[in-house]
Amino acid sequence: MKYGRTYNFSAGPAMMPEPVLEEIAAEMMNYRQSGMCVMEMSHRSKVFQQIRDEAEADLRKLMGIPDNYKVLFIQGGGTVQFAMVAMNLMKNGLGCYVETGAWSKKAIAEAKKYGEVKIVASSADKNFSYIPDCSNLDIPENADYVYICENETINGTTYFQLPNTKGKVLVSDQSSMFLSRPCDVEKYGLIWGGVQKNVGPAGMAVVIIREDLIRDDLPKFVPTYMSYKTHADNDSLYNTPNCWAIYCCGKVFKYLLAGGGLEAMHQRNVEKAQILYDFLDQSKLFTGAVRKEDRSLMNVPFVTPSKEQDADVVTASKAAGFDNLKGHKSVGGLRASIYNAMPKEGVEALVQFLSKYEKEHS
Ligand SMILES: *Cc1c(COP(=O)(O)O)cnc(C)c1O
Repeated sequence: MKYGRTYNFSAGPAMMPEPVLEEIAAEMMNYRQSGMCVMEMSHRSKVFQQIRDEAEADLRKLMGIPDNYKVLFIQGGGTVQFAMVAMNLMKNGLGCYVETGAWSKKAIAEAKKYGEVKIVASSADKNFSYIPDCSNLDIPENADYVYICENETINGTTYFQLPNTKGKVLVSDQSSMFLSRPCDVEKYGLIWGGVQKNVGPAGMAVVIIREDLIRDDLPKFVPTYMSYKTHADNDSLYNTPNCWAIYCCGKVFKYLLAGGGLEAMHQRNVEKAQILYDFLDQSKLFTGAVRKEDRSLMNVPFVTPSKEQDADVVTASKAAGFDNLKGHKSVGGLRASIYNAMPKEGVEALVQFLSKYEKEHS
């Protein structure tokens, strides 16, 4: 790693591609002869407009987003989307949710403020260590949508097959897997992702929404900012957007396109995750926390036989130059987040370290 940087296994904010950071650094003082940094620019200026437009166009290319979907850049991170989804999509007042862990639980709690929530499947019985069968869900006729958290960042599960929504709109929180693999946008009504996990800086979510789901008959209590229509009608420039995040994400979109797109990224992610899972599967000290078929390629939670040893591994990993391997406080253990920007060498170095630790402690 250059610049004395560390292999950072944080779940988010997380690593960004080094070439992108270098480009941003080079443009910091004077962005392309504009005489200013992007942070200092009017969001109504021509130069920023171009940054925004290119970011959207590149994302559309990257994901193959059809023309009848809007791409929105909205502040408030992921958490605001828990409320926006319910406020905007609960026309009949009923949302169906699949409960798979910490982030779907938060979405459920928030949605309950605005309407009725039906939990149509759950993996709570086994500590959210798997994705429940979603092939024949009991979805009421008047349900407005079916909501999933497609990659549970804390619990380390992911869907390899989307639920059968029986014709209802599918809504997906893709925060911790956004742009990690190809995505068939047409299967969804709405996709959203907080960008600080797998793309850029914190403080923004990308929302991809099918146009017919954008309503102008929202209840009066819905704040102007919280209506998708506000953002769709104004190209995400109704008010001052998170210009910096849009700029940085735009760079990452270009970087991914130049690197072969999402299929190429997916291949690299499969390879990287395999290295870590292969190690865990043969280890006598470390155990993966998730059912094999549902393992996330992005967030890998694992444990030793005791809390004390978990803590000892975290301390030793820090001393060895790795960072943020402690599991989330709600589940404990260890967790390695290996998003797009984590190089394969980082995962190899981690496995080498864990393997050495195991030898020294058995
Ligand atoms: C981090 C995360 C969120 C919340 O994002 P914030 O920007 O911190 O509000 C929501 N969903 C998932 C899957 C996440 O990983």
